[in-house]
Amino acid sequence: MENDIIAPNGKKRKFIFVIGGVMSGVGKGIASASIGRILEGRGFKVTAIKIDPYLNVDAGTMNPVEHGEVFVTEDGDETDQDVGNYERFLDVNIYRDNYMTTGRVYSAVISRERNLEYGGKCVEAVPHIPYEIIGRIQKATEKANADITIIEIGGTVGEYQNVLYLEAARMMHLENPDDVAFVLVSYLPVPSKLGEMKTKPTQAAARELNSVGIQPDFILGRSTHPMDEPRKQKLALFCSVDKDNVISAPDIDSVYDVPINFEKENLSEKILKKLKLEPRGQDMQEWRNFTEKVSNCEQVIKIGIIGKYFESGDFILPDAYISVIESLKFASWHNNRKPVIEWINSDLYEKEPDKVSELSAYDCLVVPGGFGSRGIEGKISAIKYARENKIPYLGLCYGMQLASIEFARNVLGLTDAHTTEINPDTTNPIIHIIPEQAKKIAEKNYGNSMRLGAYPCILREGTRAYELYGQKEISERHRHRYEFNNDYRQRVEEKGLIIAGASPDNELVEIVELSKDLHPFFIGVQFHPEFKSRPLRPHPLFFGLIKAGIEK
Ligand code: GLN
Repeated sequence: MENDIIAPNGKKRKFIFVIGGVMSGVGKGIASASIGRILEGRGFKVTAIKIDPYLNVDAGTMNPVEHGEVFVTEDGDETDQDVGNYERFLDVNIYRDNYMTTGRVYSAVISRERNLEYGGKCVEAVPHIPYEIIGRIQKATEKANADITIIEIGGTVGEYQNVLYLEAARMMHLENPDDVAFVLVSYLPVPSKLGEMKTKPTQAAARELNSVGIQPDFILGRSTHPMDEPRKQKLALFCSVDKDNVISAPDIDSVYDVPINFEKENLSEKILKKLKLEPRGQDMQEWRNFTEKVSNCEQVIKIGIIGKYFESGDFILPDAYISVIESLKFASWHNNRKPVIEWINSDLYEKEPDKVSELSAYDCLVVPGGFGSRGIEGKISAIKYARENKIPYLGLCYGMQLASIEFARNVLGLTDAHTTEINPDTTNPIIHIIPEQAKKIAEKNYGNSMRLGAYPCILREGTRAYELYGQKEISERHRHRYEFNNDYRQRVEEKGLIIAGASPDNELVEIVELSKDLHPFFIGVQFHPEFKSRPLRPHPLFFGLIKAGIEK
């Protein structure tokens, strides 16, 4: 049964593997998500799986500068940022079963071997690892009850570490050739000295794929420029791909245009044909309306994100905050504004405190999540500036905790107020560790052990948070070990920092906000609303922030 990809109810499942060629970072995630979107437009239920071929069990233990954002799912998995792209493009929730790493696959096989589940067989990398991979793909597909599952294999073809995933894909195709399609997302450089688009690296990538027994059905040619006919012909001929299935995917301003561009090349039609599926409709209208709205926004809103995970060597990368950035974009567009987002390194305000006054140039400010001491005094100075100068402010997780610290220090006069994450000996631990988290840290149990995933929160009537959400009970995703110390609740409230939301048992503070007479918009949330923002449904907190920024 291990290779059977027909659902128990007899419904045929279809699978699309998306594989990278030439180099990483060419937008395989966006391509996978966009393929999903256009197939949804044809009336199919789609889910997506991300495979990360590293040994980490999840993305939670990796530095965001190296790996990008850790995207948290409803069920508390710490995954790759591409899972966020899937959720945003497909407008579905993705769960733990849809995320796979080599660490996860091997640990499962090894623990099964320890339990004698292989019945005395010699357990080998091949075929047992590919079987495990196939089993996981099937399980995620069944759970989502998807007609089509898109599986993005991280990294690029030719790397040692993704070979067993390609082997699993090959085996699935061998068993059910009509139900499995392969998409090679490759890169076509246009060297400035030559001024011509070169196809050779992509030809080499296709050949590399052939060498592991896989023939791509489609080639998506990522490049700075659109791909012309001669180049399509070349790739078709040398990579044995139907010319119509060589798709041009040039750089564009907004990633949300990618599905529309794919449809200009009738990609959904071609994929359905390959998978022997009849289209069930064509409905991309809402998405089209959205992308039109995006391109019609002219008036600018200037947003500052104060963080620290931006620098990679000599390069500045916003990837660590991708969901925050996308959430700000959705909220701006739905307010008919074109977002101009700038990343501000909080270290700067520690080295040069006077510089903080440059924040007056922004319409609104965000301090996103974070860990550790580097740059936090700079963030606290920025929050103080936002509070005193009435700049709309949204603090996310650490941004809420630091806003509470700032208020305690500068309004309550508790000058040593701090989080015990940074200063365990402070006499005013306004942020302290959640008791069960202290135990985990003492046991060095760091993996997937924070307070993670969706939890309910009850909003207090009359608060700004309540007005924005328009309902009393909400659910948001979390990722933290520390919390607001309840001993300080009364004191901060007396001075105008309202506890606007808390857990149903009222034990854990989830939202703080400055009362309306003190500030036009100042909210800190212990959770991460950025994980639930969707292009067509901007998150109320981000929407409110941008609206307040416009009114300012
Ligand atoms: N470091 C803080 C905590 O662990 C905040 C975490 C975050 O911002 N995601 O509670």
